[in-house]
Amino acid sequence: MSTSNTSLSPAQPISISPDWKVQLSQAVTSIDQLLSCLDLSPEQLSASQQAASEFALKVPRPFIQRMQPGDPRDPLLLQVLPVTAEMQPSPDYNKDPLEESKHNPIAGIVHKYANRLLLVISPACAINCRYCFRRHFPYAENRQSKQQWQSALDYIRSDMSINEVIYSGGDPLAANDSFLGWLTAEIAEIAHIKRLRIHTRLPLVIPARIDQSFLKWATATRLKPIVVLHINHANEIDAEVAGAIKKLLDAGMQVLNQSVLLRGVNDSALALAELSERLFDCGVSPYYLHLCDPVAGAQHFDLDETTAKQIYGQLQTLLPGFLVPKLVREIPNRQSKTLIS
Ligand SMILES: *Cc1c(COP(=O)(O)O)cnc(C)c1O
Ligand code: SF4
Repeated sequence: MSTSNTSLSPAQPISISPDWKVQLSQAVTSIDQLLSCLDLSPEQLSASQQAASEFALKVPRPFIQRMQPGDPRDPLLLQVLPVTAEMQPSPDYNKDPLEESKHNPIAGIVHKYANRLLLVISPACAINCRYCFRRHFPYAENRQSKQQWQSALDYIRSDMSINEVIYSGGDPLAANDSFLGWLTAEIAEIAHIKRLRIHTRLPLVIPARIDQSFLKWATATRLKPIVVLHINHANEIDAEVAGAIKKLLDAGMQVLNQSVLLRGVNDSALALAELSERLFDCGVSPYYLHLCDPVAGAQHFDLDETTAKQIYGQLQTLLPGFLVPKLVREIPNRQSKTLIS
């Protein structure tokens, strides 16, 4: 199918609701619609409907607005566009690369590391990232009612070695605030829990998510939240995103960032240094730079370890140490992430 360059002008301002839930429901889910917003044709990009039927395209408008119209190599576009390369069979890449199913003791919990535990809060994400290691996660089996969350809470109560709870997903902030407020209050009642960590892409995909209702529950308990954002490229941070981050910082939260090293998106020392500088400008500390997990459908993003180390070595020469994220890989069944350099 070809897309006329004149049918939908990218210059046309799209009106965006201030309500994050409306923005989420209005996310673009078709390849043609996305590419016509950007004045690009599917042929230019080997876009694939088949790949989209395996793992849907989903990208909210505020994220699209940061893409460069007419640029088929745009680093934000490449993170979300389904392409034919995803369909190539690759024996070394599979559906559960981190063997998380072994560490899924009860629905909603991934407990792999000794003193911290991950809660799969929401099966949904605000955006579907093509490289995602959870693209095949059995979310349906992990979907829960409030009552079922009681058994997750019992699990946390009964294990005194756990001192940190991590909200993950999907994207935990795709869940509604009344549920998150309830769960957080319950966790704060458990004396051995010191920290609450929230791993999310929502503040950058839909900055309006950081509203009064979120800030209210997130700061309502004795637990000081740590927010770990997931930004891969400096272009993902515009003034609105910087504003959302400022709200997190002003509310007393610590804000960190993790990235994935992705071929074609951020695989140069300069791109990574620019990201760290931009994060610093916003008050965010770089935390991890992950090597890709070997998940089926994402092999075209992967870089070999030698190349990754070369890029990382150059990056170290461009930044002060505190702006260099730790280069890590996740190896199944280890007690922590594995440092590469
Ligand atoms: C990455 C991860 C964590 C957190 O590890 P940190 O090194 O503390 O950031 C916890 N649980 C799981 C399952 C993880 O994959
Ligand atoms: S879990 Fe994170 S990386 Fe995966 S699709 Fe959702 S937002 Fe993207």
